[in-house]
Amino acid sequence: MLSHNLGYPRVGSQRELKKASEQYWAGKINRDELQKTARKIRHQNWEIQKNAGIDLIPSNDFSLYDQVLDTSMMVGAIPERYYQLIDGKSNNELDLYFAMARGFQRDNTDVKAMEMTKWFDTNYHYLVPEFTANQKFKPYSDKVLLEFEDALQKGITTKPVLIGPVTYLLLGKEKEAGFDKIDLLDNLLPVYISVLKELSSRGAEWVQLDEPGLVLDLTEKQKLAFQSAYAQLREALPTLRILVATYFGALEDNLSTATALSVDALHIDLTRGAETLPAILNDEDFVSSTKKLSLGVVDGRNIWKNDYQKSLDFITKAVEVLGENRVMVAPSSSLLHSPHDLDLETNVTVLTLEIKNWMAFAKQKLHEVSEITALAKTDWKSENAFVENQTAIESRRNSSLIHKPHVKKRAEEIVDRDFERLSTFPERQAIQLEKLKLPLFPSTTIGSFPQTDDVRQLRANLKKGVLTQDDYEDRIREEIVKSLRWQEDLGIDVLVHGEFERNDMVEYFGESLSGFVFTQNGWVQSYGSRCVKPPIIFGDVERPEAMTVKWSAFAQANSEKLVKGMLTGPVTILQWSFVRDDQPRKDTAFQIGLAIRDEVVDLEKAGIKVIQIDEPAIREGLPLRKHAWKTYLTWAVDAFRLSAAGVADQTQIHTHMCYSEFNDIIDSIAAMDADVITIETSRSQMELLDAFANFNYPNEIGPGVYDIHSPRVPTVDEMVFLLEKALKVIPARNLWVNPDCGLKTRKWPETEAALRNMISAANLLRESVVAVSQG
Ligand code: GLN
Ligand code: ZN
Repeated sequence: MLSHNLGYPRVGSQRELKKASEQYWAGKINRDELQKTARKIRHQNWEIQKNAGIDLIPSNDFSLYDQVLDTSMMVGAIPERYYQLIDGKSNNELDLYFAMARGFQRDNTDVKAMEMTKWFDTNYHYLVPEFTANQKFKPYSDKVLLEFEDALQKGITTKPVLIGPVTYLLLGKEKEAGFDKIDLLDNLLPVYISVLKELSSRGAEWVQLDEPGLVLDLTEKQKLAFQSAYAQLREALPTLRILVATYFGALEDNLSTATALSVDALHIDLTRGAETLPAILNDEDFVSSTKKLSLGVVDGRNIWKNDYQKSLDFITKAVEVLGENRVMVAPSSSLLHSPHDLDLETNVTVLTLEIKNWMAFAKQKLHEVSEITALAKTDWKSENAFVENQTAIESRRNSSLIHKPHVKKRAEEIVDRDFERLSTFPERQAIQLEKLKLPLFPSTTIGSFPQTDDVRQLRANLKKGVLTQDDYEDRIREEIVKSLRWQEDLGIDVLVHGEFERNDMVEYFGESLSGFVFTQNGWVQSYGSRCVKPPIIFGDVERPEAMTVKWSAFAQANSEKLVKGMLTGPVTILQWSFVRDDQPRKDTAFQIGLAIRDEVVDLEKAGIKVIQIDEPAIREGLPLRKHAWKTYLTWAVDAFRLSAAGVADQTQIHTHMCYSEFNDIIDSIAAMDADVITIETSRSQMELLDAFANFNYPNEIGPGVYDIHSPRVPTVDEMVFLLEKALKVIPARNLWVNPDCGLKTRKWPETEAALRNMISAANLLRESVVAVSQG
């Protein structure tokens, strides 16, 4: 029974790679210094895995930016616009790579980065390969060979990891019409064959080809592509041992495609697709073959300790049918998605020893994999390692830190009317029109204003104890008043307080809710050098006291205009945290929904008449398989409604969404029944509105009229144009005027100029509508 690992985090436990890359990009260190840091991280990672007793240790799981971009470099899928820039001039692979990853600006040249999108349903983002009809591939970068050799010199014969050819094609985008990217397979395979031959000749025994595409909905043609690809690889490489890794879900209808592949081993994810195991053990072709089955028993995507009983049960079942030699043990997926090392969490006032004892980060997960493998070979029930593990699991199951009967009881007592506002939207709209007295095309912003160094310094100084709580709050209040005056001068209709007291829209609420903990070093790569440190939801969630009322009430008391209360919604808080694995996500979402509901009601009591509950992450929670969408969307929408529905008709509930296209879930967005939604659209020139051709969005809506992701100041005309486009499908009384997203990342001058133009656009539109109705 071999233990192995699919991939290890590569930013370094102290984010060394992030720091070195950013210094390299800033011209502060040279190429060799960057490569030195990278090599050091790889060496450390191999060392850690060796010490943990992992039999097959991966290589090429390291990346300077992104493993999909690495694959594009390996197969020479380099768009001409980058190739021209760099290769012709300096023949510098590294700069070419970073130009693709980050864009290239110099003198009069300005080439944008390649498009980036989410890696399956994780919060990791990859660079989307670009394909053209009959595209040719050729071996370009030999990174995979260099890393294999490097490890070999350290005495480790690694298992190189490549993204499999079919998944690689599935991840890309056709840049011209009239062809199917899957048809490129025959052009692509020769490159894979030559790389694999090279690896084999240098001594590689095993390779891992990642094909998570096998957990997606596939067409017949795509399924056949898998068969054809692996048949060709087998023929060209009769002796190299190929492991195909699937993860992030069950195989479902792709099971026979996966089990029929001519490979030496198949990896399945038992944390997100446990039903795949009995199905494979019932598959006669697989059972009668000599193929190995790799069991992904340790969750690669969370921070919880593995339940050895559960894992050993899986292994026992597999061994019974396949025999010990044909079973392998591994994490469910690459450990890229979990933080590095729990040992670095030394601040016991932040993460108490009791809670820490329930957790495992990447390094600890490796240890679990090898310990489980060792236990499986023994009569484990009486082994110390097993007993210790079960004690920890048991303590989590029964801890009063986690389980709060009154929180569970309240969630159980939710009834249908808790999801419903008192009256229908048309009734509420009439009441709000009368009470709020907003003009036609009301203008607003999304919540945050530029976070200047001064503002960041305030929060940092509070944390360091340089500023007292009172002084800090005085300074925040000054910022709020300044921003209110500024918004009034611009002529904005519904103001915001500016969110100066918030570091991050999820962390801020996590810090005030019970059931959350935070780490000091729990960084996870989001993309390139960007890392996030997600809060950890470990227990039943409740709101010990009001979280935002003080700031919102202060702001409203300081302006004659309406000031919006500003909250983050339950689905987004859930989505951007590490969540419990001991209860369904839905239950956690409802608990958070109730906590936010209490805050909404308290804001209303404090005289706040407009309250925004942000849900930018609602779409990214969508399951990978379409048949599971409906269940998810139903509870996600319900969690939002639960948070919003506690108020009177006259209180106007807003929501905000961004970061994705929403056309395919527009009916669920409507079902949230927010009185107003402000939504990102401007980057796609209001493509969202296409959805409105077949679907009448019933409530008020502000499709963003300018892209806040760029410092560029849009002209009045551009925004009038977009608004007029919106008016073709949205009734005038329902249309709001606002930017795409919060302005946190912008600077004040461009923000002021853009908002000034936005207000002019709204005024022009009002004039023209009045003129039409009078003429
Ligand atoms: N209210 C938040 C802000 O303006 C919303 C952020 C977001 O949508 N990502 O910053
Ligand atoms: Zn946004």
